[in-house]
Amino acid sequence: MTEDTGIDVLVIGLGPAGASAARAAAAAGLRVVAVDRKSEPGHPVQCAEFVPALINAGDAAQSARIQPIAEMHTFVEAGSAEVTPEFPGIMIDRRSFDTHLVEEARKAGADIRMDSAVRDVSPDGTVHLFSGEVLGAPVLIGADGPHSRVGKAAGLENKEIIASRQVSVALLKPHNATDIFLSERLPGGYGWLFPKGDVANIGLGVSQEYKDRLKPELDRLHARLVEEGRVGSDILGHTGGPIPAGGMIEPAARLGETLVLLAGDAAGLTNPVTGAGISAAVVSGTMAGEAAAEWLAGNTGAPDDYAEDLEDHFGASLSRALKRRTTALAAHAAGTASPDALRGGWIAYPQYWTNDDIREDTHDLLEA
Ligand SMILES: Cc1cc2nc3c(=O)[nH]c(=O)nc-3n(C[C@H](O)[C@H](O)[C@H](O)COP(=O)(O)OP(=O)(O)OC[C@H]3O[C@@H](n4cnc5c(N)ncnc54)[C@H](O)[C@@H]3O)c2cc1C
Repeated sequence: MTEDTGIDVLVIGLGPAGASAARAAAAAGLRVVAVDRKSEPGHPVQCAEFVPALINAGDAAQSARIQPIAEMHTFVEAGSAEVTPEFPGIMIDRRSFDTHLVEEARKAGADIRMDSAVRDVSPDGTVHLFSGEVLGAPVLIGADGPHSRVGKAAGLENKEIIASRQVSVALLKPHNATDIFLSERLPGGYGWLFPKGDVANIGLGVSQEYKDRLKPELDRLHARLVEEGRVGSDILGHTGGPIPAGGMIEPAARLGETLVLLAGDAAGLTNPVTGAGISAAVVSGTMAGEAAAEWLAGNTGAPDDYAEDLEDHFGASLSRALKRRTTALAAHAAGTASPDALRGGWIAYPQYWTNDDIREDTHDLLEA
């Protein structure tokens, strides 16, 4: 991509990662075009909408805030709540959150194009839309989610996926905790109830190969919560979607002369145990936009610096989560997913955080 196409940075996807990348690159004075197949940012929502307070997801999270979260309650099999008292965070409205981020990108000068679905990405980095339009730029940022077409063109794909399913229902009593349901019936995932004012998102995720369990297990969780008098029986909305669970993949590559940077779910930055990826998407998207500006300004080391910065920010927690998930899946496969084994794979329990030789082992796994 040597000729001037009138675009410096082309961003694919306008979720939290793409909107943040577009904003950062435009704020650096670059000519940015950002496309998304959706008609409206963040709609339909595919998220349980919880952002832990320890993680900084910025102004957009505060402006889309629905209610605070103070604690985490973990239910192991049919047991009662095991309380983690200090687990603050906020529940957000994901549609407003994504809209806010896209508006910030637009205000920074990015050319935002909704209703623009990418059909494929050529080996030289040229992007073909379903509309027939062809776009190209020296830097292509892939922020197009777990099954990124940009990543696929560069041979960088998320291999491990959690499948998920969620319903929204009436929440009958105010609640200020995230409820987590661990069970040997949910390999590679868990169930959740996240309160959103007078509504609750209840859902669950499991390793892709067990996705047939999603519907019956979600029906079972919903029935339990109805029985306990916590939620209504009417379903107000359905959602779900894939969640990357294999850890970080190489975030920088070349397609011909085009520099490709991946961010957010496209780069596998979602936590393989919790499935949380909103904050990592915002942070990595911002870094990708800044790295694009650095590279276009002549810093040839910018792509490597980007990869290193991601490793510094997310490497340790992703490695730990990947190790815990691998151990938990092995227990499920061996039929030894006892309540204690389930606790060892979840962030509420000290066993999750013990420091064995976690980094080295996990790097071996990642490289295998
Ligand atoms: C059911 C569920 C619940 C979740 N709950 C939470 C939670 O509570 N907290 C949390 O932190 N994380 C949660 N996550 C994860 C979180 O939603 C993601 O990590 C986050 O959205 C990643 O942001 P992103 O910008 O990388 O990708 P996305 O938000 O997936 O954005 C990608 C964008 O790319 C666009 N796109 C894709 N393909 C194309 C194409 N071919 N052409 C044009 N545009 C395209 C999509 O339309 C989309 O707008 C959940 C995920 C799921 C599925």
